[in-house]
Amino acid sequence: MARYSRPSGPLGSSLSWSQVAMVEPSYKFACGRKWGYSRILQLREPPGIRLIAGRAYDEGINALLGARMAALSASEALNTAWKVAAVSFDQGIEGFREPLEKAQADSYAVMVEAAIACFHRELPGLVPAALQSDHSYTVRTADGGSVSVRGRSDYIEPDGTIVENKLSGLARWNREGEWDEAWVAEHRDQLVLYWLARRAEERRGIAQPAPVVPRARFDVIHAHVGLKEPKLRSLVLEFDVEDERRALAAVRNANAIIRDGRLSARPGPACDWCGFRDRCRADEVARGASFSDLVGLRKEVVA
Ligand code: SF4
Repeated sequence: MARYSRPSGPLGSSLSWSQVAMVEPSYKFACGRKWGYSRILQLREPPGIRLIAGRAYDEGINALLGARMAALSASEALNTAWKVAAVSFDQGIEGFREPLEKAQADSYAVMVEAAIACFHRELPGLVPAALQSDHSYTVRTADGGSVSVRGRSDYIEPDGTIVENKLSGLARWNREGEWDEAWVAEHRDQLVLYWLARRAEERRGIAQPAPVVPRARFDVIHAHVGLKEPKLRSLVLEFDVEDERRALAAVRNANAIIRDGRLSARPGPACDWCGFRDRCRADEVARGASFSDLVGLRKEVVA
């Protein structure tokens, strides 16, 4: 991708956490080029069916927890969640541009419903103190500037634990139950930033819905079409100064990469669900001779 002139305006001075994760190369799924397509070229990533299902699940869980906070009965809360998820899913499907068999759409809708039921069954007593809280934390950079990182946590428990709830098509743990360390590392830093944001707010005297504690949790549902029974696992994380140092370093590095336009392609696991694949391939072709041509190797030798 061509380098760009960084405007003197706010670009780079405020980042969402998802942008940090997309750029910071220590994260497994980062790709600077993808950030460039989205934020510089302003290309829209067409939503895939998994994204639509994920959004429906998120909205369903928000409705479920909101209903619990409003003291609705368990069955009312679950029905509310299913209805909200179904509306979200149908709206997403309406805007879907790729041909989609009705049976395929139905199988995803069933999967979302089953995932919500699994959450409801496995975490029956969960009534959060706060839902969908916005967090913002300002990090000083080496050049004397600053960058604010924004994000939104899914819910905060009454004891102050910040929770990130994920619907994942891949199990984030192995057969022995050990968590995928690369996945945990990336998402752990996100939660560290949320904790730091809450801590800063408390120090400024801003009332908090629950105690500020250096602790977070993942609630991850593994579900995909064809999987008989979704599974939920939770992972509790406790933070210390090393977590703080590492998360802030990641933010500073991501900000420097964006500032300097070092947005190289990073073919890898992130390509599996990247919405810019066609554009990315076309740009590669337009770049000219492939490596094998450049070094005089016949394609069949390197294929
Ligand atoms: S297809 Fe892969 S390399 Fe290309 S922009 Fe997407 S994630 Fe990056």
